[in-house]
Amino acid sequence: MKNRRPMVAGNWKMNKTLGETEELLKALKPQLKDIDGVDLVVCPPYIDLPLTKEILKGSNIKIGAQNMHWEASGAYTGEISAPMLKDLCDYVIIGHSERRAMFGETDETVNKKVMAALNAGLLPIVCVGETLEENEAGHTEAVVGRMVREGLKGLSQEQAKQIVIAYEPVWAIGTGKTATPDQANDVHKNVVRPILREMFGEELGNSIRILYGGSVKPGNAAELFGQSDIDGGLIGGASLKAADFAGIVNGAL
Ligand code: PEP
Repeated sequence: MKNRRPMVAGNWKMNKTLGETEELLKALKPQLKDIDGVDLVVCPPYIDLPLTKEILKGSNIKIGAQNMHWEASGAYTGEISAPMLKDLCDYVIIGHSERRAMFGETDETVNKKVMAALNAGLLPIVCVGETLEENEAGHTEAVVGRMVREGLKGLSQEQAKQIVIAYEPVWAIGTGKTATPDQANDVHKNVVRPILREMFGEELGNSIRILYGGSVKPGNAAELFGQSDIDGGLIGGASLKAADFAGIVNGAL
């Protein structure tokens, strides 16, 4: 029996107009209203956050952003800061592989963002994961280990309590190719978890949630989330349909 509360978070990426956001949330809310015992989070695009907050007011679904800048304000055209997000959401995804691959994010910027999020009172969902090439070359442990160590560098115990890790093998994101439950759990249990224990101590290291992400669907969620060190999921494609997201949440119960 795990003592970590499961979490299922939906990353909508660059999808959903305001009208579509309203439609999805209005379909999702009743399907999830009786869910107890799983932390539920939706992460719409920035511009949909105010509407999302309005629609989800009083519900059991929390809100996250998909990214942020590490500075609090200033001349950073097109960027959004943690204090701006704080009024609209509780969580923020940091270091998603698409941001690392397409927008130049590094372990260093991830670390700055994690610190800035925590300083503003946001809860970071920190993404780590190896590419197919790195996986096939046998570098998963080195790459994921480095991302965890560097991304969380300098966090106090108090700060580490607030974070969630998402292990998302890049080769499984949006590809329909899911890591097997054993494969994913092996990385959670034998790579990420020992580093968390080493950095933050036995008890805290064991209590930090590690989500899995990469082509999770209603049909594979329960088996994945049933593994010893998989504490829920970060869901991309399947979070765009209310029935699929709700089906995945049921897999976490
Ligand atoms: C993601 O983008 O974080 C993700 C896991 O996507 P998908 O579920 O579509 O693979």
